[in-house]
Amino acid sequence: MGKLIHIVEDEADILELLQLQLAGAGYHTRGFADAPALLDYLLSEQPDLILLDLMLPGMDGFEACRRLRSDPALRRIPIVMLTARADIEDKVKGLEFGADDYVTKPFEASELLARIKAVLRRSAWEGEKNVLDITSDFRLDFNRYEAFRSGKRIDLTLTEFKILQLLTKRPGWVYNRNQILDFLWGTDKIVTERTIDVHIRNLRDKLGELAYMVKNVRGLGYKFSTKQEQNGLQDGQA
Ligand code: CA
Repeated sequence: MGKLIHIVEDEADILELLQLQLAGAGYHTRGFADAPALLDYLLSEQPDLILLDLMLPGMDGFEACRRLRSDPALRRIPIVMLTARADIEDKVKGLEFGADDYVTKPFEASELLARIKAVLRRSAWEGEKNVLDITSDFRLDFNRYEAFRSGKRIDLTLTEFKILQLLTKRPGWVYNRNQILDFLWGTDKIVTERTIDVHIRNLRDKLGELAYMVKNVRGLGYKFSTKQEQNGLQDGQA
């Protein structure tokens, strides 16, 4: 069964090209000329992934991303953003708004397909253990890709959850940014290490009082530990 991808792109030529390329790779697609049309349609059918253009008439890709991520029923659908600008600020902003990855226009079909494949692979179930109780009131559910604090779900994006998944595999072990990038994007990555810092910052914001567990080890990377450290290495700004 081919995966279903919803594409939001206001330029008809590009939309048609995307649909041809994705169909050629075995995906089912559905195209939308603007974000509200997609949001309406999601009430009746949810895709395996959304390919979202940044520059759209009316509601732009950032706002669409924000809305998708703030809706509990939709927030786990992976999002790949299409941006015409190579501007790093746009990319960082896209990730801050919850996109899982981005592709810069003009793009090669092979690059786009590799990105989509990588994001879909990440979203597939691959947990060895289903549930990990980190503390008595902090739980990770690897089947559902959800984190719970005192029984309440913490609103994490797939990428944020995956970072927790990696770091909690070996508590105390320091992962450098490149290792985290490798885990998240494999060999398909062309993102910068700075994007990891953005995801970590978002993750910490959402963890609230638990944020201290995701520790920045200056000059090295990040580690996970439930110990409250007082030596100045803890919880530093990235
Ligand atoms: Ca556009």
